[in-house]
Amino acid sequence: MGDEVKEIELDCGGTKVKVNPGLFINGKFIASEGGKKFATIDPSNGKVIAEVYEASASDIDKAVDAAEAAFRGKWGSTSANNRGRLLQALSALLMKNRDEIARIEALDNGKTFAMASRVDIPGTADCFNYYGGWATKRHGKTLDLDKNTFAYTRHEPIGVCGCIIPWNFPLLMAAWKLGPLLACGNTAVLKSSEKTPLSALYLAKLIREAGFPPGTVNIVSGYGPTTGEAISSHMRIRKVAFTGSARTGRLIMKSAANSNLKKISLELGGKSPNIIFDDCNLGQALAYSIPGLLFNAGQVCAAGTRLFVQEGIYDKFVAAFTKSMKSMKLGNQWGRSTMQGPQVDKIQFDNILALIESGKKAGATVAVGGKRHGDQGYYIEPTLFTDVTDDMEIVKKEIFGPVGVVLKFKTEEEVIRRANDTEYGLAAAVFTTDVGKAIRVSNALEAGTVWVNQYAGGGIQCAFGGYKQSGIGRECGEYALELYTEVKQVIMNISKM
Ligand code: NAD
Repeated sequence: MGDEVKEIELDCGGTKVKVNPGLFINGKFIASEGGKKFATIDPSNGKVIAEVYEASASDIDKAVDAAEAAFRGKWGSTSANNRGRLLQALSALLMKNRDEIARIEALDNGKTFAMASRVDIPGTADCFNYYGGWATKRHGKTLDLDKNTFAYTRHEPIGVCGCIIPWNFPLLMAAWKLGPLLACGNTAVLKSSEKTPLSALYLAKLIREAGFPPGTVNIVSGYGPTTGEAISSHMRIRKVAFTGSARTGRLIMKSAANSNLKKISLELGGKSPNIIFDDCNLGQALAYSIPGLLFNAGQVCAAGTRLFVQEGIYDKFVAAFTKSMKSMKLGNQWGRSTMQGPQVDKIQFDNILALIESGKKAGATVAVGGKRHGDQGYYIEPTLFTDVTDDMEIVKKEIFGPVGVVLKFKTEEEVIRRANDTEYGLAAAVFTTDVGKAIRVSNALEAGTVWVNQYAGGGIQCAFGGYKQSGIGRECGEYALELYTEVKQVIMNISKM
């Protein structure tokens, strides 16, 4: 399979961290076919961090060969207990190397080191730990037919699973797929996002160190239309798990249909409503709604970007909200007081600025922000639009940046109708002190997650996913195991003949 490529040293805010730029296939870091590479950049200054190897379709074939061999061989014969132990060993290694891996995530993505260290790495470790526990708890059933028949179900792995992940929470998105699929006994070929390939390569090193048999997890870097398409159309990959945009979700569904009808699960975008009623606790609503919109520089699929505020509290809420937004401190990954880093790259930066311009042109008022911050790197001021109408592009389209819109409403019925008037259905929130109203509105909202008197939060044991065009399937919790399981029924004649 070729010689192992060497590690490179990265400068992560003054601290050196090593990572291997190769394709992690069959337990080794190897060069891509023809040695093709691409560069990844630091979004705080636009400078190249490193070049990594780019997987071609034939590299994906190699990865699938390795994953199939592991599935039929060593990994397939690893006991459920040992699968659990390996997942928990990986979780422990992540926490042991928390500082280094958080530095890589921050450097490549632009999020602060503090945030990566406090949120991304422990969240990733929790996920592997949690699914390590599930490895021994996938039980089939015995089925009651009649006295001459014995019937039971087995929950079996699907085989080689493809994983295609985005860049906003690179490690966490990898873990949400690898955790449950490995617990169920599958093997994987995972492609990271071309915008943030580095932390997945560090994870590959830890997977090897934890002792997973070679080929169980294969991790490659590459672009969507080439490497990603080679995964979604591969004839021997039996399932693909995807997180990203609805546009790409459609392409993946098509490729799955046109190749081998592989199973798919999709976690897509959102335009989530955050509903603030007059009778809310204002301090609480503000404390959650600001990070609900701006966390991770607004690059969160479940961000609360449509703020519906009831008329009695509207002026007070908007005044306090804009005041807080103005106090957000923007800066690079390493600043101790930085609250918001840059957007991930120039493509995202340009898209967000174009959508801000579309809001201005449509006649919305920029209550705060509305432009680039500084003159180097991809920073955008936290931005809030008022005087918007439900049909504006900034109200309909996912912006995936630090940009929100505020909409005034009068009644409960009205806000439910307007909140549901979207093709998305990922998340929603309700702020009220009236329990009956909280439950009525939560029940009426078409969203996979509804938060009450908080925005965001939950844990790996919860179920995450979308209604409507926000996705297919649920990740996290026990629900995710279904995405990686085939159910076999065995029906036996036990009569005396
Ligand atoms: P994207 O769809 O452009 O890319 C996601 C991944 O898909 C990347 O790895 C990319 O290389 C790959 N890809 C692109 N084109 C492909 C193709 N033709 N075939 C196969 N793979 C392809 O999205 P993005 O810009 O990386 O992420 C932003 C979007 O993801 C937002 O819309 C956001 O809402 C969504 N997102 C959703 C969730 C969720 O859990 N629902 C989480 C994070 C991000």
